[in-house]
Amino acid sequence: MTEKVVIIGSGPAGLTAAIYTARADLRPLMIEGMARGGQLMLTTDVENYPGFPDGIMGPELMESFRKQAERFDTRIMTSDVTKVDFSSRPFKIWVDEDGYLADSVIISTGASARWLGLESETKLRGHGVSACATCDGFFFRGKEIAVVGGGDSAAEEALFLTKFASKVYLIHRRDELRASKIMANRVLEHDKIEVLWDTVVEEVLGDTLVTGLRLRNKVTDDVSELAVEGLFLAIGHDPNTKVFQGQIEMDDKGYIITGDNTMTSVPGVFAAGDVTDHVYRQAITAAGMGCQAAIDAERWLDEQEV
Ligand SMILES: Cc1cc2nc3c(=O)[nH]c(=O)nc-3n(C[C@H](O)[C@H](O)[C@H](O)COP(=O)(O)OP(=O)(O)OC[C@H]3O[C@@H](n4cnc5c(N)ncnc54)[C@H](O)[C@@H]3O)c2cc1C
Repeated sequence: MTEKVVIIGSGPAGLTAAIYTARADLRPLMIEGMARGGQLMLTTDVENYPGFPDGIMGPELMESFRKQAERFDTRIMTSDVTKVDFSSRPFKIWVDEDGYLADSVIISTGASARWLGLESETKLRGHGVSACATCDGFFFRGKEIAVVGGGDSAAEEALFLTKFASKVYLIHRRDELRASKIMANRVLEHDKIEVLWDTVVEEVLGDTLVTGLRLRNKVTDDVSELAVEGLFLAIGHDPNTKVFQGQIEMDDKGYIITGDNTMTSVPGVFAAGDVTDHVYRQAITAAGMGCQAAIDAERWLDEQEV
């Protein structure tokens, strides 16, 4: 049997694509991935998703997306896609040994923020530890916080966070910033930002909320504690696209390139959300792109008379 549309990934982009394709009678099959619900499952309060004036918890929001997709008969499989072949139609998609055929595919596998990999950091994610300043900066009004990183995005996040925080420590493991000169200068000249050079975070302190960091100076080996209430990681994101390598065009960082609206370099394969977007990275933009991809897929299938 050939599916009309297979959606890969179940974050805001994939589930929105599912709602739209299901309501267009395309009976989508969603292979949702083992990280069911996507990145918002890793956070607590979401205060910027329209329609929730009092905010909503990330996992609760994603459960509502899912219920809405299931209400219109989206079939959902909790597995990771392990291989694809987009060289001819119908497209082939594998989950281990099981193969699926599809007339069209919507890729919404998102991106993963890079974390330090500390146990204490994982424990306090959403409780003072974040990887998204746009999303969570607002919660740190008047507080002292730290940002880890040294590139342009770390500089941008640190500068953005000065709007809320009373003080921002930028923790960088080297003795100079990798950020562009103009961004680096803005950081160095900002009176609310203090850069801690040659420094790494060894532990995030706090039981239920972040209360501080244990730091190590890489040159002197000195260990110290820094009292902060928030920690923002700005050490990059990795798009989840390994499985599509060699099948569709990507940029040098692995983000999928879309040309004609959400169409990828392979006609009939569409991409939506953070997997194709390293600029906005928001649930609302991912959901918007999921809607676009669904409409694009529906129109493309019509044109092919599928
Ligand atoms: C800590 C944190 C807090 C955030 N807070 C906010 C916020 O308050 N407001 C906001 O707007 N945004 C927030 N964001 C950003 C937001 O979560 C993302 O922009 C959004 O989730 C992107 O949606 P997406 O559908 O593109 O991908 P994702 O949410 O990344 O979902 C990707 C999906 O793809 C699946 N997948 C991956 N690989 C495979 C595979 N091989 N096979 C099958 N499935 C696969 C995963 O299982 C997952 O379901 C936050 C992000 C983080 C990390």
